[in-house]
Amino acid sequence: MRDLLAGVTQFQKDTFPQKKSRFAELAGGQSPEALFITCSDSRVNPELFTNSEPGEIFVIRNAGNIVGRKGEADLGMAATIEYAVKALKVPQIIVCGHAKCGAMQGLMSPEALTTLPEVGKWVSLSKSALEDASGDPNNDRLTQLIEANIRLQLRNLMTFPAVAEAVGAGKLRLHGWLYDFETGEVTVVAPDTFQFTEPNVRIA
Ligand SMILES: [Zn+2]
Repeated sequence: MRDLLAGVTQFQKDTFPQKKSRFAELAGGQSPEALFITCSDSRVNPELFTNSEPGEIFVIRNAGNIVGRKGEADLGMAATIEYAVKALKVPQIIVCGHAKCGAMQGLMSPEALTTLPEVGKWVSLSKSALEDASGDPNNDRLTQLIEANIRLQLRNLMTFPAVAEAVGAGKLRLHGWLYDFETGEVTVVAPDTFQFTEPNVRIA
């Protein structure tokens, strides 16, 4: 197993000195560009693939980037959304799913979750995405479900009063992204059709 504390020592030696003034500025407060909701998957590193610096994205992560409707998800989700929107006044929320998501695989194949009852309960919050997961003939069923789950979470966000109010006032925009860690590509939900566009970001 890799020694993570040795990694901290390395960070203190190499990276921290370069960012020291940034961290000193941030001691006065944060004003992030976005609330970024993504999966806990270790292959998804939002600061890395958005090229973000400390202080730029306010992140919620869980298995499957599931928001749930207000009252369905946990208190931590509701509180963190409320804080981002009302206290930090983020101008955008990005729901970012990713390729080969194990949580969505579990939603698609619940028989694989018999020994993981909590995971089963959690991903079932997205079961209505299963009905929406047949639209795109160019993609396999898992990818269609990953896309449908992102669309569902964008709708779920609107059940939170703080979000609906800020969107209505034109102060907040919601975006859906799908990140493919194998290619570095991100596809986004088109606001007019609610379908995913061609990849708009390519990292050669
Ligand atoms: Zn995932």
